[in-house]
Amino acid sequence: MSSTPTHDAIIIGGGHNGLVCAAYLGMAGLKVKVLERRAVVGGAAVTEEFHPGFRNSVAAYTVSLLNPKVIRDLRLHDHGLRIVERRAQNFLPTLDGRYLLAAEGKTEHEVARFSQRDAGRLDAFNREIDTGADVLRDLVLQAPPNLTTGRSLRGLGELMRAGKLGNRLRRLSTENLRVILDLFTKSAGDYLDQWFEGDLIKALFGFDAVVGNYASPYTPGTAYVLLHHAFGEVNGKRRVWGHAIGGMGAITQAMAKAAASHGVEIETGAAVREVLVERERACGVVLADGRVIRGRLVAANVNPRLLYTTMVPEQAVSADVLRRMHNWRCGSGTFRMNVALSSLPSFTALPGSDLADHHTSGIIMAPSLGYMDRAFADARQHGWSREPIIEMLIPSTLDDSLAPKGAHVASLFCQHFDPDPPAGWDALKPAAVEAVFAQVESFCPNFRRALLGYRAWTPLDLERDFGLTAGDIFHGQLSPDQLFSLRPVLGYARYRGPLAGLYHCGSGAHPGGGVSAAPGYNAAREIIRDLAGKGSGRRARFV
Ligand SMILES: Cc1cc2nc3c(=O)[nH]c(=O)nc-3n(C[C@H](O)[C@H](O)[C@H](O)COP(=O)(O)OP(=O)(O)OC[C@H]3O[C@@H](n4cnc5c(N)ncnc54)[C@H](O)[C@@H]3O)c2cc1C
Repeated sequence: MSSTPTHDAIIIGGGHNGLVCAAYLGMAGLKVKVLERRAVVGGAAVTEEFHPGFRNSVAAYTVSLLNPKVIRDLRLHDHGLRIVERRAQNFLPTLDGRYLLAAEGKTEHEVARFSQRDAGRLDAFNREIDTGADVLRDLVLQAPPNLTTGRSLRGLGELMRAGKLGNRLRRLSTENLRVILDLFTKSAGDYLDQWFEGDLIKALFGFDAVVGNYASPYTPGTAYVLLHHAFGEVNGKRRVWGHAIGGMGAITQAMAKAAASHGVEIETGAAVREVLVERERACGVVLADGRVIRGRLVAANVNPRLLYTTMVPEQAVSADVLRRMHNWRCGSGTFRMNVALSSLPSFTALPGSDLADHHTSGIIMAPSLGYMDRAFADARQHGWSREPIIEMLIPSTLDDSLAPKGAHVASLFCQHFDPDPPAGWDALKPAAVEAVFAQVESFCPNFRRALLGYRAWTPLDLERDFGLTAGDIFHGQLSPDQLFSLRPVLGYARYRGPLAGLYHCGSGAHPGGGVSAAPGYNAAREIIRDLAGKGSGRRARFV
């Protein structure tokens, strides 16, 4: 068997970050191969038929975080991507007939129906969140400093990088620095309680703090998860969420086309079994079918726990790193469903099945922070919340390519569901589906009559189908101990793993999960820097 590398870079996993990393490497003139275990690329951002004639995004279902620079650089619009805005951002119905509709230019008026005081504070609140989101936006396309010790040149470089970050923070006023510290440390509940008195307005923002985050909104650190959902934009409008025509798969199909246009080879149905290590360096992979593919470097798009506990030989990294990767905290506690509907839901709080603005929005069935807190406590005790937090999104209201004329598809994104309940998800799944349906029906009584078919993914299904360890949608919790210079482990936050030639290009690296493309972009930049530093002889230029 030849030990000559056939490729410059091998990418394990064709999720959106793997594809983006590959596309930039291809653009820089490198020979790249993406190996994807599933039959389609896209990872958690794919569109599939789940009921005859009905297609929908399967895991991720709405777009905002996708970085505009990546959209431009990869010319995703030329490759077919079209992202549209919702007619209203969010709709929060209650069981007692009230509702809050958040829409451009209308939210303040809506909030005032419940509290003049809250309406008067909304602008200042939004400015404060924008301050935090701006800082985060500046950081997402940067490699965090490694904060290593020692007086070597490398240590000095890291110190300088930390200094640059310090300078960025020093440019903030003391008041704004306090805001940043609040948002990085507090609970979302404590943070929102200090701003508002109304349940619905707090639930509107608090929902983002528990999405994919198996925690109460009163758990310290959850304010950061709220902020993490605020650094995006749709077509230049900040903090807005939208829909990719054709579903989330349209994003990753466009990325795959961009990568292919730069010569990247993509192989599906190609599960990697092991990272090949020779002379203390990653030099390729072994596939499940026994084939060996050699590359000058390997970049992993998979969850770091999956990478280090199943693919990298145990002796190839230090015992300390290995122990930390075994203990990398994963488990979002989410349950995902797609439903096919013969008509639009009619809400008790805002009746009618004719298409209206609220049908196009993210419909949050969780009317208070107390409700969300109970959902978490319930899940801890019973395996899942008897009154789950559900966001319903009906993309067919904006996109007629997903369902037959007159019919609709809806995504149900449900929290909180124990990532690993003692009885096991295969046994519990039917009852959990029933709990979700019962809860949706309590908000919209025509739901079951309109139901034509469905598919559900428990946390275990998300792991089995998408390789999402413990169903973690972010490849590891977004908690202060697993962010920035600590993602995935102190000393290896700059996309280079603890093994020479092994890079992290997925959501387990900074800035974490969500369809942002930032980890893939950052990893490609660092890889190209390393190759340029080694005088590889190839034209390797980062755009
Ligand atoms: C239910 C759900 C809802 C979500 N909703 C949203 C949302 O609305 N908006 C949003 O922005 N984000 C959302 N997210 C989060 C977002 O989808 C993910 O954080 C993001 O897609 C992860 O991208 P990635 O490329 O880093 O990894 P992944 O998409 O996980 O890609 C990793 C790839 O590696 C492959 N792989 C695994 N093992 C192997 C192996 N042995 N060999 C080869 N390939 C392998 C996998 O099949 C997969 O394709 C959601 C996630 C989930 C699960």
